Amino acid sequence: MRQKNALIPTLRNVGEAEMISHQLLLRGGFIRQLAAGIYTYLPLGYRVLHKVENIVREEMDRIGAQELLLPALHPAELWQESGRFTNYGPELVKLKDRHDRDFVMGPTHEEVITDLLRGEINTYKKLPMSLYQIQTKFRDEKRPRSGLLRGREFVMKDAYSFHADRESLDETYQDMYQAYTNIFTRLGLDFRAVEADAGAIGGKGTHEFMVLSDAGEDSIAMCEACDYAANIEMAEVTGPEEAADKTPVAAMEKVSTPGKGSIGEVAEYLNLPAEQLVKSILFVADGVPVLVLVRGDHEVNDVKVKNLLDASVCELADEETVRRITGAPAGFVGPVRLKEKVKIIADQAVMQLNEMVVGANEADVHLIHVQAGRDFEVDQVADLRNIQAGDACPRCGATIYFKRGIEVGHVFKLGTRYSEAMNARFLDPNGKEQPFIMGCYGIGISRAVAAIVEQHHDENGIIWPVAVAPFSVHLITVNTKNEDQARMAEWLYEELKKAGIEVLFDDRAERAGVKFKDADLLGMPVRIVVGAKAGEGLVEIKLRRTGESKELSPQDVLKELP
Ligand code: ATP
Ligand code: MG
Ligand code: MG
Ligand code: MG
Repeated sequence: MRQKNALIPTLRNVGEAEMISHQLLLRGGFIRQLAAGIYTYLPLGYRVLHKVENIVREEMDRIGAQELLLPALHPAELWQESGRFTNYGPELVKLKDRHDRDFVMGPTHEEVITDLLRGEINTYKKLPMSLYQIQTKFRDEKRPRSGLLRGREFVMKDAYSFHADRESLDETYQDMYQAYTNIFTRLGLDFRAVEADAGAIGGKGTHEFMVLSDAGEDSIAMCEACDYAANIEMAEVTGPEEAADKTPVAAMEKVSTPGKGSIGEVAEYLNLPAEQLVKSILFVADGVPVLVLVRGDHEVNDVKVKNLLDASVCELADEETVRRITGAPAGFVGPVRLKEKVKIIADQAVMQLNEMVVGANEADVHLIHVQAGRDFEVDQVADLRNIQAGDACPRCGATIYFKRGIEVGHVFKLGTRYSEAMNARFLDPNGKEQPFIMGCYGIGISRAVAAIVEQHHDENGIIWPVAVAPFSVHLITVNTKNEDQARMAEWLYEELKKAGIEVLFDDRAERAGVKFKDADLLGMPVRIVVGAKAGEGLVEIKLRRTGESKELSPQDVLKELP
């Protein structure tokens, strides 16, 4: 591509962008913002996005997942069936068509794919089946301020698997896990697969793939000796006093005073008008007690308990208030953990909720009157850990330390959460109807682009890993008015293209300094400079990452490149 006519609007300064990846992608002319969290991928940015997509595609295809493309606009009825029309929360973008019918802009596609399969697949003979798509997703994120790291419109790969039994789900989960490992390795990312459900130890059926970076919003507990790694949302804010009381059982017992719980009482504790607090629910999901507070301004009155799980409820109480009420240490119950939990429950455990709810606005089963041992098993609670730096690893006993991470992928055993809710069934070998057992597997494609930049840059700009670089070679003519230089550069440009090498050709009549600065900023792995020595038949070849350079004849340059 010739730079003279290319849309690569580089900038020297970008005002308010906080994240390095946001700054560099704007400065390098890879993206432009249209509105908060909504970006245009300019030609260079789009090339990177494509490369990432193709790596993901190859690895999905390799494990036998089939690519399709689902609609982005979904009729609200599907989301009502799953219960998520109300409980997905304010991130769900809703709209109406001309007939006043409700639609949503897909933030994820469990409903749509489950609807598809319930219509098309009715026998175990077609199972297992894995399907995936690469598509634009919509989430009205609260704080879309980090560029591609958190968009309101962003590109995701989402895959869904359907199974006749658990063993089959376990196998596909393993395949996906391996595919994700391959993908993030190929993308040049330093990452860890972490247990997403950090409360209890052991196979929880959900892992997040975290790119280790200070730009990340998650904190990951990692063991210095074994490969234990878990996403611990609260650890960051744990203060020294809380650390003193780390026995959750004791903490729970402290609040399990016998008596009658009432909404009024809870509201009083929370310093809230009583009419605002509709319900408080404490339940155990995967061995982790979860506290959910529901405010009156949600549409909750006529819906069942499972529909009360609106992520926004978590904003009700701050961590300190919840701790004051429950006496529980940080990380045990609290809005941040709660937030994560609510998401997990919404996606995984809702089906089990009815059995697990221990307090649903009934007398004596309130959050302030929960009894460990009566309302949930004490053993499960004892399993819970509020891990902090310096603690012993729950797996091997060595020391735990913390790192920040960017969630670039998430694999999840859904079980029958959607197939039950949406009545998606197949006939088993005995002719009996069974709900599909499902898994879902997401990758933030556009987020991964930003994560790559977070990990691959220096003070001068981006350093693209070869596998995702928009072009592998940046060819620069120092002085386009010099005939030797112009001729040699043109020759090289044609030869490189013939050799199948992707080359960006800086043929602009700009000052050399400007061109070199831009080349550093844009970050192609190899730079070829045709300058003063063109007359002697020499050009310079330079590696962006190491700065290593040498002088060669143009013919040798061609031999040198792969
Ligand atoms: P987060 O915790 O960062 O909000 P999530 O857990 O809500 O992410 P998932 O529902 O697991 O996201 O979606 C699958 C993947 O999509 C995530 O692992 C992440 O890489 C990506 N993703 C999610 N939200 C965004 C966003 N707003 N912008 C860009 N990528 C996103
Ligand atoms: Mg999210
Ligand atoms: Mg997450
Ligand atoms: Mg996730």
